[in-house]
Amino acid sequence: MSFLDARDHGSKVGSGGHASAQNEAIDRRERLRRLALETIDLSKDPYFMRNHLGQYECRLCLTLHNNEGNYLAHTQGKRHQQNMAKRAAREAAEKPAQPAPQRRAAVKKTVKIGRPGYRVTKQFDSDQDQRSLLFQVEYPEIDEDVKPRHRFMSAYEQKKEAWDKAYQYLLFAADPYEVIAFKIPNIDVDRSENFFTHWDADNKIYSLQVPFKPQRLTASGAAAPAGGAPQANGGPPRPPPGMQGGPPPMPPQMGNGFPGPPPGQGFPMPPGGPPPQGAY
Ligand SMILES: [Zn+2]
Repeated sequence: MSFLDARDHGSKVGSGGHASAQNEAIDRRERLRRLALETIDLSKDPYFMRNHLGQYECRLCLTLHNNEGNYLAHTQGKRHQQNMAKRAAREAAEKPAQPAPQRRAAVKKTVKIGRPGYRVTKQFDSDQDQRSLLFQVEYPEIDEDVKPRHRFMSAYEQKKEAWDKAYQYLLFAADPYEVIAFKIPNIDVDRSENFFTHWDADNKIYSLQVPFKPQRLTASGAAAPAGGAPQANGGPPRPPPGMQGGPPPMPPQMGNGFPGPPPGQGFPMPPGGPPPQGAY
């Protein structure tokens, strides 16, 4: 939950043009902060301590915090989470008799705040006869020191949908947001000059441009990259057994569900199960 006071520097830019958007973001942060204060009982947090100066300390990370909200934000941050994981691992090693409750408590601490906003733009470069998709994902509440990541995933690797080789998946991840995935045509990505990623740390927007290699069979439009790929008819084959257990880099969040189809893209993507705690 990075919506708290410590992260408010994101709105320090006093540009009036974004005032209402900033206010919305602040309102949202405040709402989430109250929710967190209601749902998280700090008195049960073994690392939460109020010192004689009225400040709050994290006894795990030895950090100081001016208020509860700031402390809560810290508990969702990378450093605290890593320390929690380290401690859990250590305790599990020291006390093999009762490692399970400790580990479970550590995992539960990761609270996702929902899916990021995004925009997908279909592009066509007539000079190069190249189609591309521009993804822009907004992470206004991203954790400090976190940079968004993306990853392409083959139809075989994903486990949310029936396997369809006409598609591949593009995933975006950035704590504390849920991972989102887009279903895109399974056309070779051209990773030369027009492929780029950009993290705009000021505006908290992660951009990824995905150019596709020209398709020889696009005359009919059947293999057009953006939304025109043909749906396979009949029951899709099951993935080969060997492909199911692959270790994707972002497995923990995968279960949190794919987003709905990007507007106008025509890539249906049913939500994968109930949203986790913290989704709204
Ligand atoms: Zn801490």
